[in-house]
Amino acid sequence: MPDRRADIAIIGGGILGLAHAWQAARRGLQTVVFERRPRAMGASVRNFGMVWPVGQPSGEMLETALRSRDLWIEVLDASGLPYRPTGSLHAVYNPLEEAVVREFAEIGPGRGYTCEWVEPEEALKRSSALVPDGLRGALWSPGELTVDPRRILADLPAWLAERFGVELQYGSLVRSIGLPRIETSTGVWHAERAIVCAGDEFQTLYPEVFSESGLVRVKLQMLRTVPQQGWELGPSLAAGLTLRFYKSFQICSTLPAYREWVAGNLPEYDAWGIHVLASQTADGAITLGDTHEYGDAPDLFDKTRLDELVLDYAKRFLRLRDWTVAERWHGVYCQHPLQPYFRAEPSPGVQILTGPGGSGMTLSFGLAERTFQLT
Ligand SMILES: Cc1cc2nc3c(=O)[nH]c(=O)nc-3n(C[C@H](O)[C@H](O)[C@H](O)COP(=O)(O)OP(=O)(O)OC[C@H]3O[C@@H](n4cnc5c(N)ncnc54)[C@H](O)[C@@H]3O)c2cc1C
Repeated sequence: MPDRRADIAIIGGGILGLAHAWQAARRGLQTVVFERRPRAMGASVRNFGMVWPVGQPSGEMLETALRSRDLWIEVLDASGLPYRPTGSLHAVYNPLEEAVVREFAEIGPGRGYTCEWVEPEEALKRSSALVPDGLRGALWSPGELTVDPRRILADLPAWLAERFGVELQYGSLVRSIGLPRIETSTGVWHAERAIVCAGDEFQTLYPEVFSESGLVRVKLQMLRTVPQQGWELGPSLAAGLTLRFYKSFQICSTLPAYREWVAGNLPEYDAWGIHVLASQTADGAITLGDTHEYGDAPDLFDKTRLDELVLDYAKRFLRLRDWTVAERWHGVYCQHPLQPYFRAEPSPGVQILTGPGGSGMTLSFGLAERTFQLT
């Protein structure tokens, strides 16, 4: 077969790869996406689908997340893919959690967050899924939206191909990049430029860059209920434990006292990095998670105890029609201990972009736009 050509090659059909493919194609570049699997099976299909600006630290990352959300909406509207622009509620049930949320609602708007404290009655009006007993109030943020990761990763590539003529090479593993030559398991291509969005698997292409990057692998356990027939979750829901997970809340002087309380009272939740989020998929199922295990060789085997901890905590703030668990799985992403994501240029014309940690859905479109603004 003769060598084939494109202006730009994207390696990886996860959300970062697809966001880059869209940015490239809408700039008129002839674009090819290589995905080693017949369909994407990485972190991007295993997540909640939460586009969650309220979790980002103020400043550059919050701005990137807000821009990313606007780009998400643009692409979702253009492609006709479903999403839920429902906003989010962080519900609080103890005085220390309440102090953090009240403080954030007070100082957050001055730092770029659109959010407010709502009293229990108002929180329950916004979400009938919240447990009313002991509810002290909530942080309401209108800006979050939820996409269905499985639908997005399956259908967005087809829309990119149809709308922009993006060439999809699924089931094609990139073996090596020496521009303009790109060797794949299904043949040789030529491209002017390559963007590697291969998650932690970029290690196979650039092992030295990976080992010097400082990136750490993180494993998360997840659950999904059966579809809740005729029942809407409303806003995506979080509770107290989430306040110690997202960097945004670190601006609160009241956070250390709450952290200390969790360490003393819920030590297993600390040991396994558990906080609980609930989002709804297009078919009405509720996605619940998550846990965090750090290390280069994440445990292959899922721990039922961690699922129990997630469900026990979820039941403290969430009321569902049907708690039947239909699916359990885990996902792995990589993240940098200090930086919000990892960007490198291992050779001229080749860029690696990975490591947005637990915020890759949120940041993907904003980061991809930045890639093209930088070059
Ligand atoms: C359980 C879980 C829940 C999460 N929840 C959220 C959330 O709600 N909101 C949020 O913002 N973020 C969330 N995240 C984080 C988010 O999912 C990730 O940051 C994001 O999906 C990373 O996208 P990616 O494209 O870099 O990686 P991936 O989705 O892993 O894609 C990389 C792709 O590259 C392909 N590939 C690798 N090497 C090659 C090669 N040599 N040739 C061809 N193809 C290759 C792989 O097959 C893979 O499909 C969550 C993550 C997990 C695991």
